[in-house]
Order: sequence, then structure tokens, then C-alpha cells
Amino acid sequence: MTLTTVKPRVRGFVCVTAHPTGCAKNVQEQIDYVKAQGPVSGAPKKVLVIGSSTGYGLSSRIAAAFGGDAATLGVFFERPSDKGRPASAGWYNSVAFENAAHAAGLYAKSINGDAFSNEIRQQTIDTLKADLGQVDLVIYSLASPRRTDPATGEVFKSTLKPIGKPFSAKSVDTDKGLVTDVSLEASSGDDVENTIKVMGGEDWTLWMNALKAADALAPDAKTIAYSYIGPEVTFPIYREGTIGKAKEHLELTANGLRTLGFNAYVSVNKAVVTQASSAIPVVPLYIAILFKIMKEKGLHEGCIEQMDRMMREKIYVDGGPIIDDRSLIRVDDWEMREDIQEAVKAVWGDITSDNLMTDTDFASYQKDFLRLFGFGVEGVDYDAEVDVEVPMPSMA
Ligand code: NAD
Repeated sequence: MTLTTVKPRVRGFVCVTAHPTGCAKNVQEQIDYVKAQGPVSGAPKKVLVIGSSTGYGLSSRIAAAFGGDAATLGVFFERPSDKGRPASAGWYNSVAFENAAHAAGLYAKSINGDAFSNEIRQQTIDTLKADLGQVDLVIYSLASPRRTDPATGEVFKSTLKPIGKPFSAKSVDTDKGLVTDVSLEASSGDDVENTIKVMGGEDWTLWMNALKAADALAPDAKTIAYSYIGPEVTFPIYREGTIGKAKEHLELTANGLRTLGFNAYVSVNKAVVTQASSAIPVVPLYIAILFKIMKEKGLHEGCIEQMDRMMREKIYVDGGPIIDDRSLIRVDDWEMREDIQEAVKAVWGDITSDNLMTDTDFASYQKDFLRLFGFGVEGVDYDAEVDVEVPMPSMA
């Protein structure tokens, strides 16, 4: 046990501390949201979530468990508390999730390690086979800056760069709240191939083939991975940049997996505040503008609202999954509505440091960012000492 107070220590676009009580409250709020929507009919009963500790993966796990009473196995790469230092937010989130699932009588176990490695894949399959037999849904929600190829040991790094020519655009320094112009160098060398290697569909395919070979997939099992498209203002850095090429690859991988007989789909989700999205230039300013507009129109959603709606209204419906002409599930449908995008465009050019607080929802962006790490959560006494050494129930 290590009792201490924990304060946020933000370094650029990460916070290196996390608060166990705040993270637990965040998880409970997501659980409460899903429970308030009522049960999801036809929901999967045994679910594997790869990348289950934060962001969209965590919310997918919560939606499956508390909307469908699913048994869940989660895989993630998180840092437990060490020498009195707080654990990472994803660790605390997963502890809170397991505690709540167990209290509700649901199976929940977690595996902490590199999901790109053969060892963690095998450990996951062994656990599935021993405890659940076969799964009926596999969520693939990894966001990582690097990947070690399990066959060769070579390390690949993903980049967030425009392709072909440099790109300059407005961006917000999320720490200081200043709007500045950023100039981003064009990709070079193997940047595109390397980003595809990390964030494309190769690893998803390895997972699905391994699960099938181990007979760990139920006959009608589905698998869903996540992508993003977004607005024109972010195209050079996102959709038409190195990461966009990886997302295209992921989407094509779904088509390829379907021809092999897998029920594989990509869901295009909306822009939300997560550890992954806060690292992308230009996107945080877009999110701050988007949130204001979507809130004004009563359409605002975070990760849990998105994942609940994906399960309830897009996947587990008669004739589902509901897909577009490119076979993509679109939970970004409200974000991409013409009236929303026109409204974003109308303010984008006028945003400066002076009107950032009044003309965008940057205040919520900052609040949401700190909440990712369990800070700024209502009802938590941040001056009180907490035990930062919290064991994972399923690993104890
Ligand atoms: P996130 O950073 O919140 O979550 C990433 C997850 O991956 C965590 O659980 C982390 O532990 C896990 N992870 C990373 N590297 C790992 C490794 N080597 N081994 C095991 N686990 C590992 O990110 P997110 O924003 O929720 O992104 C998840 C997916 O959703 C990504 O494909 C992303 O592109 C997509 N997406 C995000 C947004 C957005 O606005 N955030 C929008 C649309 C789609």
C-alpha cells in the first residue's frame, strides 16, 4: 500500500500521473450511462477487446458487459504502480471495470502486455479456450506509436505526417491554450509503409487467423476495428496523411477478411478526446469547435455514447451491421452531417487565441483531457491521500 496525494503532471499531450479514484468514477459513469439505456437485444455474450483500457476500447468493453451481460477478456499495455508512483490511467480504468463487472456477476479478466507479440496473443487464446471456449465478438482498438513485428523482431514507428508536401494549419497548444500556425514536414522514406505496418490491418489479420486456428471464434462471430475520416481541414494531416493510409489499409483488411469468411467490419467513429487523438496536430482545435456545435444541436457524444449507439443501433439490429457503400459502419454520421461540417467551416478561419474560449468548447476539451487521467472528476477529493498501488483483480 502506498498512500499519497496525486496531482496532474501534464507533459505536452500526455499526463504522466493518474488518479485511481477519478478513473474509477469515470468508469462508473460510463457503466451508469449504458445501464440507463437498457439491455441491448441480440448482444454478444463472450467478447474479446484488444486495446480495452482507455478510449474507444474501454467503452466498447463497458457497452458489451453492461448492455449485454457479456463476459469480457481485455488486452492492453498499461503501467501498474511502481515504487509508489501512480499506475497509468488505463490500469486504474481496468481495475475499476473488473471490480464492477465482478460485482455484477460477470466474467472479466485482463491481459497486460504487447498485443503485437505472439506471446500475448497465445496467452489470450489460452485464457479464452480455458475460460470461455469461443468468443462471438472481437473488438480491435489498438492505437500505438510503434509495433515490433513478431516474425522478424523489427520495430516500426508510425508517424502523423502529410504526404507529398508540407502542411501548415491552425492548431491549438492544448497546454497553454494558444492558437498558432503549425508547419508539418511531408513524410519521407518509409514513413507511409511504417505507419501502415503499425496502424494498418496486418496485426488484426494475425489475431483473427490465430483465433480461428485455435477454434476460439463462434460460428457467427463478428470482429470490428475502428477508423476515422473527419473533415477537410484535417485531411492533409489525417485522412490523406500517413495515418490515413494506415486506416485505408485497415478498411481494406476488413474486406479481405470478409472474403476469407470472417464477419469483419470497420466502424468509423467520431472525433473524441482520447490519449491517441490528443497527439494529432490540428485535431484538438477541430474537436474544440466540433464539440461546441454538436452540443448546441443536442448531438454531442463521447466514447461511451458512440460505442453504445454502435452496438445498439448499428451492429446488433435486424439485418445488421448497417454499413455504407464502402462497407463501413458509420458512427461518425452525426459529426459528418452537412450542417455540422458547414458550421465548423464557418468558424474555423476566425478562431484565434482571443476567442478560443468563447467561440469553441476548448474549456471542455481541457476538462475532458484531464478526466482521461482521472482528474477534475466531480466528487473526488484531490487533497485526500489515496492508495496508488491498486492490484488488477484478475491478476492478483
Ligand atoms: P487510446 O489511446 O485511448 O487507446 C489505445 C488502446 O490501445 C489502449 O487500451 C492501450 O493500452 C492499447 N495499446 C496500445 N498499444 C498496445 C500494445 N502494444 N499492446 C496492447 N495494447 C496496446 O486510443 P483511442 O483513441 O481509443 O483509439 C482506438 C481506436 O479508435 C484507434 O484505431 C483509433 O484510430 C480509433 N479512433 C479514434 C478516434 C478518436 O477521436 N480518438 C476517432 C475514430 C477512431
